[in-house]
Amino acid sequence: MHLCAGEFVTTEEARRRLHAYDELASTRNFSPALLVVREHLPSGKACLRVNIDATEIGNVARFINHSCDGGNLMVVLVRNSGCFLPRLCFFAAVDISEGEELIFSYGDAPRRPNGLPCFCGKEECMGVLPSEEA
Ligand SMILES: [Zn+2]
Repeated sequence: MHLCAGEFVTTEEARRRLHAYDELASTRNFSPALLVVREHLPSGKACLRVNIDATEIGNVARFINHSCDGGNLMVVLVRNSGCFLPRLCFFAAVDISEGEELIFSYGDAPRRPNGLPCFCGKEECMGVLPSEEA
């Protein structure tokens, strides 16, 4: 089954959208779904940045919430031979019970004071979602 799960955008475009999304989120209820994934290459000397924006075009993964405790899913970029663009895949990081909410950490980007609020409710909740500077 093929699931279209977001637009791949350049880093420049991702930063432009982050800025626009911050403005929208400050004026109304708005839930952006722009994910930045850094892929460390085997040499360890380089890092490939992949920006996926599922705000307008995405699948059910856009509704997976953040958890400050790391959640129960891990995110992996998977590459198929012959396919230039990777797929963002979610794998269970722990045993997950039926009916349990699927959650993952949106990353270790800094928590900006004016960032979107976090409602994960975990003991270690930092109160704000991780987010790059727009
Ligand atoms: Zn939290």
